[in-house]
Amino acid sequence: MFLRVDLHTHSDCSDGVLTPAALVERAAARQVELLALTDHDTVVGCDAARSACAVHSIRFIPGVELSCEWRGREIHIVALNVDDRDPGLQRHCAEVLARRRIRIAQIAHRLSAAGLAGDDLVRPALAAAAPTRAHVARALCASGAATTMQRAFDTWLKRGRPGFVAAQWSDLATAVKCATAAGAVAILAHPHRYQVSNGGLRELLADFKSAGGIGIEVSLSGMSPRDADRAAALARRFNLAGSIGSDFHEPDLPWRPLGRFAKLPDGVTPIMAHLGLDTGRS
Ligand code: AMP
Ligand code: MN
Ligand code: MN
Ligand code: MN
Repeated sequence: MFLRVDLHTHSDCSDGVLTPAALVERAAARQVELLALTDHDTVVGCDAARSACAVHSIRFIPGVELSCEWRGREIHIVALNVDDRDPGLQRHCAEVLARRRIRIAQIAHRLSAAGLAGDDLVRPALAAAAPTRAHVARALCASGAATTMQRAFDTWLKRGRPGFVAAQWSDLATAVKCATAAGAVAILAHPHRYQVSNGGLRELLADFKSAGGIGIEVSLSGMSPRDADRAAALARRFNLAGSIGSDFHEPDLPWRPLGRFAKLPDGVTPIMAHLGLDTGRS
């Protein structure tokens, strides 16, 4: 069995700061034995991560975190064991990335209208395979327009602020079906982060399951014990497997380290059982 796993991580192909190879180096140094790369809406880092994992004898799981929409809310689906060459998935990601680029250009325009150097602020975003607002937030910090990522979002980027541009994602069922058609196991990411009532979360999970969803994150950095208990209860209620990860983006956030102890709550099937791994040690 694996002792230390991480099934939710980001590289600089999206809004992480490490290259896929550097991410794997760091995972190896932290004794991670099973690692998924799950960049936002792109799989372009998977080849490099796969090669680096082979060097370090880490079991690699190709993945992607798909942004989608459910009843007007943004929901994230972590797709694990995805065929990163699947034409349907490639097409889906290409469309999302094109929309992301347009959104970032609109954000540049708005920031410029607010008196900031919009084009400079979005340059790092547009250099990434998957441009995100997190890139813009980091650039806002580097330029002195914000002191922390949180403040960059709160002051400039979130709804109602000068640099806000609404996103247009595909719907939840489309994203889950796209992931599943590409051979992946679809997992509802960070259930504690959605601003949805308990009843709403149950409706979301019912829709997620009927679209083909298999798992839910039950052990993620930043989850309080109460969040984790609620996620575990949802996993049991909907018979979803439990997934584990850090949502690692950068080494400078020590409270979100790479790799977590592979312990699942009672009565929750480990998502590892759905990943086609050998039994016993890899
Ligand atoms: P986007 O997908 O372009 O809307 O960018 C969202 C990304 O920004 C997320 O994946 C997070 O990594 C990051 N993010 C969102 N909100 C915050 C926040 N309040 N503080 C720091 N990072 C955030
Ligand atoms: Mn992110
Ligand atoms: Mn997410
Ligand atoms: Mn993530």
